[in-house]
Formats: sequence, structure tokens, C-alpha cells
Amino acid sequence: MSQVEPTHVVPLEAGAGPDNPPCPACGEPLFGWLGEKRGLAGPVRRCESCGLGIVGEPAGPDEALRALDRLRDEETIRIENRAGFGCSLGGGGWSGLQPEAHHLFTVESVRRLVARRDQVVKSSRWAPGAGLAATWQTLLNSVTFGRNVALGALREMPAVPAAEPWQRRIDALASIVLAIPALLVAIPVELAGGLIGRGGVIRIRVELF
Ligand SMILES: [Zn+2]
Repeated sequence: MSQVEPTHVVPLEAGAGPDNPPCPACGEPLFGWLGEKRGLAGPVRRCESCGLGIVGEPAGPDEALRALDRLRDEETIRIENRAGFGCSLGGGGWSGLQPEAHHLFTVESVRRLVARRDQVVKSSRWAPGAGLAATWQTLLNSVTFGRNVALGALREMPAVPAAEPWQRRIDALASIVLAIPALLVAIPVELAGGLIGRGGVIRIRVELF
């Protein structure tokens, strides 16, 4: 007869401390995710509960809500999805790590945040074209010195060019030569992610209770 060991569950709160400040969206401790990178305000932490990512020091729910409102595009809020397949695949090369970004949202983190002002997420829809572009750029970021070079040129996405001129020349060439191969990989990745709610870009509609 086999003996079953009792499972010891450590609550996430046990990880709270100076290095693990609370998540502005859900209050659970944030854990280290990425070290300092060029073009970012500091190291990046993430919430294991709602998925929110924070660049540098978290500033609390009010600031997170203001950041969310700045992403409003007419009727919807458009987020680069930190829970997307592209982000899981790209890690530090994820295209959502833009120079201005302080909050890296997921649908769940948006749900928790807007609940603080009596709003609910009415719908969340994958934006296939924008998501594909983001995942394509994420793949290109894995071979370039800079970040978001191609979309920086094509769509005015905030980019972090490489430090040296020769690196920038290689980046431009790599983005052209590898554009089609990267697209052929990005299509199935983004399609698979989008179909299960893990697309690269999501449009969220929120309403009052
Ligand atoms: Zn959280």
C-alpha cells in the first residue's frame, strides 16, 4: 500500500517582503521576472496570481488604473498581453517590453483592477492582426541587438535601437532577411495563442456594475 504524503501548500502571501511588494491589481506579492534591460526603467517583476508585470517599482492601484486608461482606444482598452504565447516564448525579447511601459497587463489583471472602481470586464477579444505583428516582432527581437526595430520602423511602435551604428545596420538587415521566416513561425504561434485566449494583443471592453 502506498502512502500519500500530505501536500504542503505555501500561501503566496508568505513570499511578501521588501523584494516582493504587493501587486497593484490583486495584492499578491510580485516576484522577480527579468533583470535590468536597456530601454527599461528597471528590473521587471510579475504577479503569479493575476499575471500583471511591473517595470521598476510598483506605484499602487491608482497609478495602474491611470496607465490602463491611457491604453483606451475609443470604446476599448488595448493591451499587449503579458499572458500571451508570444510573451511566454519571447521572455526578455517580448515586444511588449516597450520603453514607456511600466505596467504589463493581462486580462485577469485588468479584471482585478477595474473591479476597484466598480467596473467589470464585459468582453475581451483577440486582435489577430496586431497580435501577429507583436509575435512576429518578438521573434525578430531574439536575433537583433535592439528591440522592436521592425515595428518601430513600420508602425511607430516605441523601439530601443542598438547602441552601436554597426549593430543597427545588422539589425536592419536581419529584420529584412528574416521577416518571412519569422512570419512563418509567428502565424501558428499567434493562432494557437489567440484561440485559447492567449493572443498577443487583446481588446477589452469594461462597463460599470
Ligand atoms: Zn496580481
